[in-house]
Amino acid sequence: MNFDQARCEVIATCLELAEKGYLAGTGGNVACRIDDEHFAVTPTATDYYAMSPEDICVLRLDDLAQIEGDRRPSIEYKLHAHVLRVRRDCRASIHTHQPIASAYTLLGRALEIHHPHHQIILGKKAAFVGYAPSGTNWLASKLRKTLRPEINAYLMRNHGALCCGPTLGATVARVVALESACATFFRDAINHREVSDCKPSLSEVITQLVNSDDKESLQ
Ligand SMILES: [Zn+2]
Repeated sequence: MNFDQARCEVIATCLELAEKGYLAGTGGNVACRIDDEHFAVTPTATDYYAMSPEDICVLRLDDLAQIEGDRRPSIEYKLHAHVLRVRRDCRASIHTHQPIASAYTLLGRALEIHHPHHQIILGKKAAFVGYAPSGTNWLASKLRKTLRPEINAYLMRNHGALCCGPTLGATVARVVALESACATFFRDAINHREVSDCKPSLSEVITQLVNSDDKESLQ
């Protein structure tokens, strides 16, 4: 793959993710390994619908020097560089602020994946990455320490998700499956509460308290 092919593929992926609602505004970013030495990454603060191939940055994986691109790279380029260095089996790395998975990160824990369809695409678990501000070396370092060969989705606390995979297409499928797995988690949690919550409702508690006050006032 040459630089131009990679840039066009990155743009097509951004548009697909934006259409699906996983990239809102200028949030999120996409990276793709071009060859052993280079990767392409989306530019910072650029509308996905206005992006041209020249805007996509080409960086050297080794020292992160910018080789091509009219704009500055995404502030999360170090996240993607760690993924592409550690996961040599992966050609793609996608960071999103996808709504349901991002909401899940507020819980502060990993996601066990139970549904067989999700497991086939994602593996058995989405890992949890502790909080650090966006675009910092701190966040990149926390992600790097969490990277594992068998884990393809990472939930970054109070922020969003990162998925990696052998191709951009396979990684988009992981983004979609992660959103669905998080939705399943919340649906199951709500259903479980309906079945098992035997505690009295708030109105019942208030009625009981009012009645007991009435009885006390009569005594
Ligand atoms: Zn982000």
